Amino acid sequence: MGPRPENTSIGSSADKPADGNVAGSDEGRSLNFIEQIIEADQRTGKNDGRVHTRFPPEPNGYLHIGHAKSICLNFGLAERYGGLCNLRFDDTNPTKEDVEYVDSIQEDVKWLGFDWEDRLYYASDRFEELYQFAERLIEEGLAYVDSQDLDEMRANRGTVNEAGKDSANRSRSVEENLDLFRRMRAGEFPDGAHVLRAKIDMTHPNMLMRDPLLYRIRHAHHHRTGDSWCIYPMYDWTHGQCDSLEGITHSICTLEFETHRALYDWFIERLGLHHPQQIEFARLNLSYMVMSKRKMLELVESKLVSGWNDPRMPTISGLRRRGFTPESIRAFCHRIGIARMNSTVDLSWLEQAIRDDLNVRAPRVMGVLRPLRLVIENYPEDQVDDLEAANHPADESFGTRSVPFSREVYIEQEDFLEDAPKKYFRLSIGREVRLRYAYLVTCTGVVKDDEGNVIEVRCTYDPESKGGNAPDDRKVKGTIHWVSAKHAVDAEVRLYDRLFNQETPEDVPEGQDWKDSLNPDSLEVLGGAKVEPALAGAEPGTRFQFERNGYFCVDDASTSECLVFNRTTTLRDSWSKQQSNS
Ligand code: ATP
Ligand code: MG
Repeated sequence: MGPRPENTSIGSSADKPADGNVAGSDEGRSLNFIEQIIEADQRTGKNDGRVHTRFPPEPNGYLHIGHAKSICLNFGLAERYGGLCNLRFDDTNPTKEDVEYVDSIQEDVKWLGFDWEDRLYYASDRFEELYQFAERLIEEGLAYVDSQDLDEMRANRGTVNEAGKDSANRSRSVEENLDLFRRMRAGEFPDGAHVLRAKIDMTHPNMLMRDPLLYRIRHAHHHRTGDSWCIYPMYDWTHGQCDSLEGITHSICTLEFETHRALYDWFIERLGLHHPQQIEFARLNLSYMVMSKRKMLELVESKLVSGWNDPRMPTISGLRRRGFTPESIRAFCHRIGIARMNSTVDLSWLEQAIRDDLNVRAPRVMGVLRPLRLVIENYPEDQVDDLEAANHPADESFGTRSVPFSREVYIEQEDFLEDAPKKYFRLSIGREVRLRYAYLVTCTGVVKDDEGNVIEVRCTYDPESKGGNAPDDRKVKGTIHWVSAKHAVDAEVRLYDRLFNQETPEDVPEGQDWKDSLNPDSLEVLGGAKVEPALAGAEPGTRFQFERNGYFCVDDASTSECLVFNRTTTLRDSWSKQQSNS
């Protein structure tokens, strides 16, 4: 391929920025309930008017679109109120966590467009501090070492309708508790021999207040602290104190933590620490998706998807590979809003957000997904026309490019029909269509293989119709896209559909597996696609609209022989109709 013409500005990975409306403008929007709380706090001078939030992931999986909602909320509030937002890893579980996750989480938060500056924290950096807090509780008679085994502990915890029973170890002396706890830390006991529990109330109506576990023994390697600890703090004992020590003013979490609030308050008050205000909001659920890291891990490990970044996954890395922009994800999070009622958002909202963004951002090109050869009988063998094509129908700043046209082109198989109904405005014998940016052609016949399949379509062109304009006033309704056969670049195109057939795949009837509703047709690979030569060498991550076919993003599996594209989303129906009739 020779040098590209001057005006071929497509194919670079530098996307044009979308305008502010796409990212979601705040103008005219009423305050959500968290903003109302914050503004009320500012009026009363609480926290000296400071707003300090955090995003606290557990590094046990990749971030997903639900996390994006929390990230946009926490970083967004800090931005809006001139405050700060931390990134903190709640890394209390040595066996499920991994640096791979720590790294991917940072990459994804940055990619979404947020900056924690120098405020990256790890709960594990506070293991010593948390340990000292625990000794303090023991000294004040507020925690004890329990040596019941797990089954006994579970049995004695009671039920929602039934009070729990005190453990025989509950009356151990402060000295004995301190001694045992220190020996737990020193590694004298095997896993499960003892735990440390808060001494609250075994009859409390809130089950979480029935002497919750603070520490358990786990002789396990931690991704940051290595082998220096063999007791690990429970999440509930860690999370609130970390918020407090970081000076967080508003600890925003999902609704299921509402019942934990009393416990977090109990710890903070007993320890006399700064008291962040916990505010719960409804988590994001998406239709036809699972949103649990445990389930996503299962999909990855059982190879039902190609990895955490499979373009069908609701992970940030999957959406990125699929071709989503950070702006579209932020706009989506903005549109769905914040509420206190759990609900499921339809997947089409996410698709609409990326369509809206790519509509203004992605250059238009021509790509044929399922090629059918079209031979233009009256076009000279060795002639090539360089036709000018607009890179965007509505934005001149995208410029134009040159598209080569020759005697043989590929068209879409579905753009030809032998027995076409009257209202079929594409190609059929005796009918005329416009080849986009090129010429009007009239179909003269077909070539079939032995089985009677059409393998080639024949036509003639009107040399007076260059650019696709009829020289007289004759009406040509249909416009189809094409790629010059001898200039075409080979491509593999991956089309995606929803990953599950069930609207709420996590609600499965007894005895059924949630994986039963996986959509067997969620991925379709088209190996023989053809795209126009301006796309040669396009960088992975570059996004295009293939006219009439949708939005596509170059995958990093591309080679110099074959470009690989992921279809980000289809075009909206009205838009594709408008395009084929233009
Ligand atoms: P798991 O599924 O393993 O319990 P998680 O989804 O709670 O984990 P975390 O890493 O603990 O994941 O989440 C980090 C933050 O993201 C938390 O503050 C959590 O409230 C928020 N978050 C997680 N899932 C969603 C969701 N679906 N919608 C909104 N926020 C979410
Ligand atoms: Mg969690």
